[in-house]
Amino acid sequence: MMHVLEHILSDAPSVVQRDVSLASFNTFSFDYQAQFLALVDDLETLKRVVHWAHSHQLPITVLGGGSNLLIRDHVSGLVIVNQLRGKRLVSEDAETLRLSVAGGENWHDLVSYCVQQGWSGIENLALIPGTVGAAPVQNIGAYGVEVKDVIARVQVLEIDSGQIYWLRAEECGFSYRDSHFKGKWKGRYIITETELCLFKQPRLVLNYGGLKSQIHGESSLRTVFDAVCAVRRSKLPDPNDIANAGSFFKNPVVSVEEHAVLKQRFPDLVSFSFADGYKLAAGWMIDQAGWKGRQHKGVGVYEKQALVLVNHSEHQAASLLELESLIKESVFERYCVQLEREPVELPSVVTAKSHSKESVC
Ligand SMILES: Cc1cc2nc3c(=O)[nH]c(=O)nc-3n(C[C@H](O)[C@H](O)[C@H](O)COP(=O)(O)OP(=O)(O)OC[C@H]3O[C@@H](n4cnc5c(N)ncnc54)[C@H](O)[C@@H]3O)c2cc1C
Repeated sequence: MMHVLEHILSDAPSVVQRDVSLASFNTFSFDYQAQFLALVDDLETLKRVVHWAHSHQLPITVLGGGSNLLIRDHVSGLVIVNQLRGKRLVSEDAETLRLSVAGGENWHDLVSYCVQQGWSGIENLALIPGTVGAAPVQNIGAYGVEVKDVIARVQVLEIDSGQIYWLRAEECGFSYRDSHFKGKWKGRYIITETELCLFKQPRLVLNYGGLKSQIHGESSLRTVFDAVCAVRRSKLPDPNDIANAGSFFKNPVVSVEEHAVLKQRFPDLVSFSFADGYKLAAGWMIDQAGWKGRQHKGVGVYEKQALVLVNHSEHQAASLLELESLIKESVFERYCVQLEREPVELPSVVTAKSHSKESVC
């Protein structure tokens, strides 16, 4: 085995390292190893490491900031950490502009830069951790805005062919915390650049999550940005202080009929109208089921926001997976609603969708 790995490594680009801990590459800080890992900050090197991994039939996993991951075992093959940098103004007219941003740029730094320039469209997405390249993967969203609202197109490197090309936003299957990159295209592409269409005049979105009441003074790009940052800092744990991956569960979407039944049984139910139905506040349900602030074998539910699971001391994911099951079961027993996990699991598992439980309600 040793021999084989040494042979594989013999023609590897110099950025490739072997047996590297992933603890500092995921915000849960779980300490599993990558068989091979490469930090990549230019396109040519990216092409070379992809070609190398391909020629040895090594599976490829790409990471940004590791803030939406649940690593539960060692990862075989090559892990590429996207550190591609740069942004360029592609075009502009009187009202809009197109900005193309490399996948390894920090998302919050980009939001901050745009606000400074007076460019509107992503100010509500301030302080979301991670990279620009990962933003389209789960169509990041907050305070009534989703990144799909401003994405014009996405540049990708196709892993199998090594080709680089652009995908139009309409092709990417964006929906609530989802896209084809997380679904049918999983493992097919590395996002190298994202082109955003931004506005030169503020187009403020203030009607969500009590944002308006948090704004000090007149509403402007700057005051909205500041309000979003202040609210998030007061509610969400900074992964640098407490290991976490943000919301651990998606807000379940139910039909109008299901919502009516639930609302009758639970008049206080917190929900928002969404598409053809309603989005239920998963954090509220978890809180009502008695989980907020509870600890479980080194992990727990964050005391200020029950949607966030935190890791206090664990090196591996077992306790967190147990806690996840316990929460899902108790929410299902109480509300007959199946919670779905938001972070992406690594190593990727190709499994049938989890069996929906028989309704007992
Ligand atoms: C405190 C906290 C708050 C958060 N708040 C929000 C929020 O309000 N809204 C929200 O939507 N999310 C939120 N998140 C989740 C997370 O920040 C986002 O999903 C973010 O986009 C993840 O970026 P990342 O670079 O860390 O991705 P990673 O965690 O590294 O990767 C996530 C997934 O994307 C894939 N991926 C990463 N980069 C690329 C690439 N270049 N090409 C192809 N695939 C890639 C990975 O393989 C993986 O499947 C929060 C997380 C934390 C810790």
